[in-house]
Amino acid sequence: MSAPLKPSEIQKARELIASASRIVITTHKSPDGDAIGSSLALWNLLRAAGKHAVVIVPDELPEFLKWMHGAKEIMVHQRARQETEKRIAESDLVFMLDYNHLSRTGALEPVLREHKAPFILIDHHRQPEEFPAVVYSDTAQCSTAQMIYKFMVWMDWKQHLDRHSGECIYCGIMTDSGSFRFPSVTPETHHIVAHLVEHGVDHAYVHRMVHDNNREERIRLIGYALGHKLEVMDDCSTAIISLSEEELQRFNHQPGDTEGLVNQALSISHVNLAAFFRESGEEVRVSFRSKGSFDVNRLARESWNGGGHFNASGGSTREKLDEALTRFRREIRLQANQIRQS
Ligand code: 5GP
Ligand code: MN
Repeated sequence: MSAPLKPSEIQKARELIASASRIVITTHKSPDGDAIGSSLALWNLLRAAGKHAVVIVPDELPEFLKWMHGAKEIMVHQRARQETEKRIAESDLVFMLDYNHLSRTGALEPVLREHKAPFILIDHHRQPEEFPAVVYSDTAQCSTAQMIYKFMVWMDWKQHLDRHSGECIYCGIMTDSGSFRFPSVTPETHHIVAHLVEHGVDHAYVHRMVHDNNREERIRLIGYALGHKLEVMDDCSTAIISLSEEELQRFNHQPGDTEGLVNQALSISHVNLAAFFRESGEEVRVSFRSKGSFDVNRLARESWNGGGHFNASGGSTREKLDEALTRFRREIRLQANQIRQS
């Protein structure tokens, strides 16, 4: 649903920020370019507006996002439990960015759920929680970073936009829109990005830092996954890639290394549904992508404890990797017609 903030909500957000002295910005587990881009964009803008804020993430961010201004100041809950929990307990305003349900923050959920300060939610996924004081939820937006740009305008912070905050917004929009190719990109997206470039953002630099910054091991892992682990179910127009913990360790897997792999599987011309299964400790993480009319948000919600968007979603299961794959193949065969025709 498309829903800009109402004037009364804008006023409320302004008041909350004006009266806050210790602001915490949070985002989801396994943070991606939009999660970190939107969080650091807001962090930079708040600082420029004279406000003190800290970004707290549940777990480690990928190396290819550490170039953004402020990334070194990010606190990771998994690495610094006591200190991050203290910061949250002492905060008087909490932002929830690029997620809309506290369960997406993993071990941070109980800490945030108990905290009594007001929350401001800015996010583009479906079905947001309703407890925050301000909910800016709009599923028509290509990225949370784009929503931060609009929030910046509503907060009267346009004069604070500079290269640093601009690069973070650009990075969030670019990564969540598949470099401006998904249907969620609108003329407004291009206007915003043009404005960022006018304010000193070097777009070629951002693309290079995100896309041309790989470790050799990562490229070899992707080569292995595509060469040896890609399974195409032609009769279901579906492609699957799976990686066990042992395989990931063989290539010294780091956070973010398999980002985008599922899109490679989806790029096969007759494939309309792609799935990526990754063993991770006690659970198996799943990523789904689709082309056209097959709803992977529903698929993730109904049988993989997850959610997301119509054409991109994710989830997890406590099954063994082989069991999860067997169940997925069975599930997909039942929907083969829908997938083929989507
Ligand atoms: P990815 O496959 O890149 O991890 O996630 C794709 C999309 O699905 C993202 O928009 C992400 O927010 C959403 N998503 C991924 N995992 C989960 C999950 O476990 N629960 C929910 N609700 N959404 C998820
Ligand atoms: Mn996003």
